[in-house]
Amino acid sequence: MNPVYASLGTTIFEAMSARARATGAINLGQGFPDGRGPEDVLAEAARALIEESNQYPPMPGTAALRQAVADHYRVHQGIDLAFEEVIVTSGATEALAAAIFALVSPGDEVLMFQPMYDAYLPLVERAGGIAKLVRLEPPEWRITAEGLAAAAGPRTRLVILNNPLNPTGTMTSPQELALLADFCVSHDAIAICDEVWEHVVFDGAVHRPLIGLPGMRERTVKIGSAGKIFSLTGWKVGWMCAAPPIAQILAKAHQFLTFTTPPNLQAGAAYGLGKDVAYFTEMRAGYQRSRDRLAAGLTRLGYAVLPSAATYFLSIDLPRSGVNMDDVAFSEWLVEEAGVASVPVSAFYARDPVTSVVRLCFAKQDSTLDAALERMVRRP
Ligand code: PMP
Ligand code: GLN
Repeated sequence: MNPVYASLGTTIFEAMSARARATGAINLGQGFPDGRGPEDVLAEAARALIEESNQYPPMPGTAALRQAVADHYRVHQGIDLAFEEVIVTSGATEALAAAIFALVSPGDEVLMFQPMYDAYLPLVERAGGIAKLVRLEPPEWRITAEGLAAAAGPRTRLVILNNPLNPTGTMTSPQELALLADFCVSHDAIAICDEVWEHVVFDGAVHRPLIGLPGMRERTVKIGSAGKIFSLTGWKVGWMCAAPPIAQILAKAHQFLTFTTPPNLQAGAAYGLGKDVAYFTEMRAGYQRSRDRLAAGLTRLGYAVLPSAATYFLSIDLPRSGVNMDDVAFSEWLVEEAGVASVPVSAFYARDPVTSVVRLCFAKQDSTLDAALERMVRRP
């Protein structure tokens, strides 16, 4: 048995959803919308399922989806990618695994930021990498030059950034991106940039891809997810984009993880990426309204809500809310006593956790958010 997995628990997202199912709690834990997603994207996937081939599509992805990803990023983020630089994967999760397995050799140091998405560390350790963790703190969760310098080592080969950041809902600032780019160039490191939340940004904010910064075009793997872009989290269609020398090695890792991804879902994603700008603007506006509804309701109940610039999540600061419990105890109380599932942010730390913040998912119908708020009138 591999020791990395022997000591691992079940992911917090599955654990909280299972608790919600068992207790009948309203699930604001695991991040998924409770709407149906765009009907035309669903219709295209259904049409392709019935009318087109259901045999193995090409290993790096269908031509239509690879081209659609490249075109989409040209239109929405001003970056030029060739078709060959896009490798389709079964969700961003597979892209992360393929990129980490392809790029990490035993003994390589991999710089990551806590809070970090829970898949990163087990994948890095499974690949034999040595995690160098930079701890970010509330309420700003900012990356500093000192933090980077303290984590850097002689074998720093890779930096893994999640921008926008799950669970905090923060976006990496232009200054932080510049710091990271300088760091990668000066250490000759590659960056894996997990940008699955790139479209779910609020208040008119603009997502800035790390691959667009000077010096980063040849040393960044940009990861995206159709599940997040189209509010269809069960779809598991993702991609990784990188310059040809890196893309070729990524494809080799991908071919022996899943080899390929269901062709009709690729067709749906390719169609969806070509939707007009208005679709994306409206999607963002809808989530922003939900964010504001939940934030206002929690504030009325006396909770201190931290700012959320992006993602499906906002978080509450427990000490500033007058709650005298740590995040795990409060999440426990909330699911058992109030009937609302959340995620304790300490679950995103491998060591030295922040224990004062709890994450809630606002990507829900108004009626779901209102029902959760009604239950949260009870305070611990
Ligand atoms: N990275 C981050 C930061 C995520 O939040 C998620 C899922 N929410 C993923 C990766 C996984 O994406 P997918 O469902 O496309 O595998
Ligand atoms: N990314 C989602 C979240 O943060 C969950 C993904 C999963 O369940 N693996 O809630």
